[in-house]
Amino acid sequence: MERPAKVIYLDHAATTAVDPRVVEAMQPYWTERYGNASSIYSLGREAAQAMASARATVADILHCEPKEIIFTSCGSESDNLALRGVAFAQRHRGKGHHIITSSIEHHAVSHTCEQLEKYFDFEVTYLPVDRYAMVDPDEVRRAIRDDTVLISVMTANNEVGTIQPIAEIGRIAHERGIPFHTDAVQAGGALPLDVNDLHVDLLSLSAHKFYGPKGVGVLYVRKGTPLLSMQTGGAHERKRRAGTENVAGIVGLATALKLAYDHAAENNARITALRERLIRGVLESIPDAQLTGHPTQRLPNNASFVFKYIEGESILINLDLLGICASSGSACSSASLEPSHVLLAMGIPAEVAHGSLRLTLGRENTEEDVDYVLQVLPGIVKKLRMMSPLYPGNK
Ligand code: PLP
Repeated sequence: MERPAKVIYLDHAATTAVDPRVVEAMQPYWTERYGNASSIYSLGREAAQAMASARATVADILHCEPKEIIFTSCGSESDNLALRGVAFAQRHRGKGHHIITSSIEHHAVSHTCEQLEKYFDFEVTYLPVDRYAMVDPDEVRRAIRDDTVLISVMTANNEVGTIQPIAEIGRIAHERGIPFHTDAVQAGGALPLDVNDLHVDLLSLSAHKFYGPKGVGVLYVRKGTPLLSMQTGGAHERKRRAGTENVAGIVGLATALKLAYDHAAENNARITALRERLIRGVLESIPDAQLTGHPTQRLPNNASFVFKYIEGESILINLDLLGICASSGSACSSASLEPSHVLLAMGIPAEVAHGSLRLTLGRENTEEDVDYVLQVLPGIVKKLRMMSPLYPGNK
């Protein structure tokens, strides 16, 4: 089949294109309304007003107070601030030094936990997951100790798309009065994120995952949650995150989030149908292929697989030659040859986990895109297997 003239982008979990309507909303804040939001003259007040309006928009979507929203520079910063900020504040208040998280978190959470353990004497329990990457709320209950100061479980996994029972875990955390953080970076714009329904105290988002700009994120922090600022300086963000605000980025984030939720139902329905077509097609046409993640409790856009006997990286190179952008897992771990910690935690053997492929759909994808992938992928897998010393047919 002819290579299509356009690139077929199937890596929306890594990042998304900025929506032109978002670019338009941001534009004036670089060139005309460029004031510092802390300045008292009109240009500054205009910037402050734009930020206040963006904060109100985000708060409305999360069902919280505007003052509970902190703007950050990305999802990683939001996760870092949530974990370190609560851990240090809690210990300072003599509450203890035990943290509970899952074994499938993004590195922004897991590496922060590891650093808190290694350099700051916190103890961390990494909860196991089942074969679908699901955390069992009863495991959370069992892991809680008198000195537990924070629980952090992601809303939806970035590699395999599994959606966690956040509301149930949140209820358990709140019964024990323990602050609960969720990394909702992959869920933002797709899943409902009412912080009261979810019983969360802290929630991270990142604009570039929902057709907003890179370099801007959100941390929701419920009023009364102990939080030590990690970046000190001016009194920005109610003294919780110093630094002159990225006004254009913040306007872009709020515009993108609102657009995403205004159209979430129709987008999710369309993308879920494409996902199902893709999953069905792959499983029907490729032997020894396995869907990873939960069969139904998964992000609308995530179709992820493992293919026995081959390397995910080789699949990616072959797809790229045909103009298809995909990933073997998370963008952040694709430079490493280690099998994904998520797949290993799900009980997938290391040699199988090496053959992972993540296809994440987005707004601009069509049935033709899916059908093109279904046309070329079986041949790529077959060709790679013919060259693989691991493939039983070659022994
Ligand atoms: N958390 C999750 C679940 C993610 O998927 C990502 C990015 O892939 C991040 C956090 C980090 O977000 P950012 O790229 O904005 O730092």
